[in-house]
Amino acid sequence: MCLKPIKWIERGGFMGDGKINSSVPNQQQPLPLENGAVSSSPDVQAPKQKNVEKHQTAAGSKYASAPGGPSHAGSKIGDSKLTGRLREAQISATLRTKANLAQSVAGKQIGTLDKTAIVVARDHSPAGFKNRYEAIALARGLGSKNAAIYQDSNKRWHAIETNVPVGNKGVSNNLQYVGQPDLNQWNDLKQKAADAKRQFGPQDPRTQDAYRNQLAAALGVDPSEINIIRNEGDKPDLTKINFNPRLLKLGNAGEIGLDKPAFVQVGPTELGFDNPYDVISTTLHEETHVRHHDRANELLGEFKKTGQPMDKFKGWVEGQYKANKISVEERETTIGAYEKRTGPTEAASYITGFMSTFAMDRKDPLLEKLLYSNLGQAAIRSPLSDDFKKELMSRLEKLYQGLDSNDRQRFDAAMTRLKTDPQTKNTWLAKFQHN
Ligand SMILES: [Zn+2]
Repeated sequence: MCLKPIKWIERGGFMGDGKINSSVPNQQQPLPLENGAVSSSPDVQAPKQKNVEKHQTAAGSKYASAPGGPSHAGSKIGDSKLTGRLREAQISATLRTKANLAQSVAGKQIGTLDKTAIVVARDHSPAGFKNRYEAIALARGLGSKNAAIYQDSNKRWHAIETNVPVGNKGVSNNLQYVGQPDLNQWNDLKQKAADAKRQFGPQDPRTQDAYRNQLAAALGVDPSEINIIRNEGDKPDLTKINFNPRLLKLGNAGEIGLDKPAFVQVGPTELGFDNPYDVISTTLHEETHVRHHDRANELLGEFKKTGQPMDKFKGWVEGQYKANKISVEERETTIGAYEKRTGPTEAASYITGFMSTFAMDRKDPLLEKLLYSNLGQAAIRSPLSDDFKKELMSRLEKLYQGLDSNDRQRFDAAMTRLKTDPQTKNTWLAKFQHN
């Protein structure tokens, strides 16, 4: 087998990692949590490399996601097409936390349309999401005509597929069909954006609008739901998805650390806007960071009510975990945010990305690269606690147990590569063993 060094695709990470628009020196201050991990990150332990940060994924049918581009303009790493569908059980497992034990809506009747009962065929996020856009990104990435989001009675949003396809038509406030991206429409919008960029320049409002239209089309939302950060220094909209024309990464999630704003922003990289699933994947990845971040701040709020000084916070979070009130993922990502470390949130995102990659079209030439890339990105994240490593490895093993023999071979090939590649052979994930 050939083990020539792979160029990893990077999707962005948190802000503290750096590199937003390196060509714009005095940039907007909060640098977001990127989408695109960054090799300068303190969490990255491996040698310098080009990372492919593949986001969580989604992927639907014939498009690919060529993830992340590095934040530096011009470096196009990967340009192929992927395809795929998420494997719901696997992905949803990663999204569930003890603190968010909403009930799955799978199998439930949630409405009627033309006298036909609308039933949730699959719930891809049983625990639900607080943030509607995270559900949209996950649902939209399924590549299913029946993809929808649904808000349960606890106000949590689920990414679902129903038994009744209705395109993009909304049915009620609680249920919204998101369907799948329309490639023809996408290609048309992509052309318009390229034309506008050529004709007016990248920072012209008309060009910015053209990118916003692409972003909206990928996610199946109205363009008014996308906020454009028009000028340097403008504040992002924390409640929407932001398009930042000056962001050189695929995406970013705001500033790392507690009590800092977290938000999703997507940059106009060539790689990121190659096909709609790239945009979806980037958005989902960043939404995941934002979820970790918001949860960390929720916990911080609870802690503050106890009146204890901040130096007791970490111990308090540990205590919440021991009392079974939060998951190991929440504990790790919260302490990570407190200590300004992105390792835990990135590792979790990349593991999810790796898992979702199995849902993609296996004929795609980029697929193996992405598979390994996600795994490699997860592997170089540190420091992670032993029980979090164990948790992430157990997700992988659970995934493996559910794979068919072809996919098991792909899994093992990626893992073998990880264990032999000089960049990753000494990392925590290289210690993975099947049960
Ligand atoms: Zn990231």
